[in-house]
Amino acid sequence: MTLKGKTAVVTGSNSGIGLGVARELARAGADVVLNSFTDRDEDHALAAEIGREFGVTARYIKADMSSAEECRALVTQAGQCDILVNNAGIQHVAPVDEFPIDKWNAIIAINLSSAFHTSAAALPMMRKAGWGRIVNIASAHGLTASPYKSAYIAAKHGVVGLSKTIALETAEEPITCNAICPGYVLTPLVEAQIPDQMKVHNMDRDTVIREVMLTRQPSKQFATVEQLGGTTVFLCSEAAAQITGTTISVDGGWTAL
Ligand code: NAD
Repeated sequence: MTLKGKTAVVTGSNSGIGLGVARELARAGADVVLNSFTDRDEDHALAAEIGREFGVTARYIKADMSSAEECRALVTQAGQCDILVNNAGIQHVAPVDEFPIDKWNAIIAINLSSAFHTSAAALPMMRKAGWGRIVNIASAHGLTASPYKSAYIAAKHGVVGLSKTIALETAEEPITCNAICPGYVLTPLVEAQIPDQMKVHNMDRDTVIREVMLTRQPSKQFATVEQLGGTTVFLCSEAAAQITGTTISVDGGWTAL
């Protein structure tokens, strides 16, 4: 499988799943554009390292996914966008009646609206190139719910709905749009949730991991960023050309329960 000649833009890719996905796309031969809202030397160094390791062109472009203009500018600045992976995401845990309004707005903007804006900017490029893949990193929480995560779950269900709509709008074109729904993957986002969950459930770290976080993941194992990258590469393959408007769960059996 080679993605040589394709350019992939991965939002929120200076850590965690986005970085893992960018690395697997580069391993498959794609040129990659990494992104986050920071503009540090280490962000650019990360891209340079991927470029060297896989022999592809790898760039880092700063853009804040909470801004409609910056979402669209990211794709424009990339110059080419054959593969768009909407991955940027944040989390906040609180009951609905205590959920801070600014957190709700930020989660909806970064986790949901950014995928609308980047897709709107990328689709004309994909049409011009005669090929395109949009892969949205949703969540098992795009298909099911849990308490205290109202904004995240609303956003992720929204991403699944947006993916279906884009798939229908592009159904007769060589463009697909799907959502990957990971269960728990041990990344900085999940690491940051552990103290909140410990507080909400009044449990120690190990107990919260086993009994709260992985309680709905029957495999009792975190998924890996490499597995998510591999699933993304599969969705970009010829074998997946007729897979569109659907979700692929990488959740150790969570949604089978
Ligand atoms: P992470 O915190 O490691 O990565 C999030 C990425 O988004 C980082 O690169 C961060 O810099 C970036 N980001 C945050 N705010 C941004 C902004 N305003 N503009 C641009 N970039 C921004 O978290 P992760 O676990 O790798 O999560 C990545 C995606 O996977 C998220 O959408 C998350 O909801 C989803 N997801 C994660 C898990 C999990 O268990 N880790 C499970 C299901 C879904």
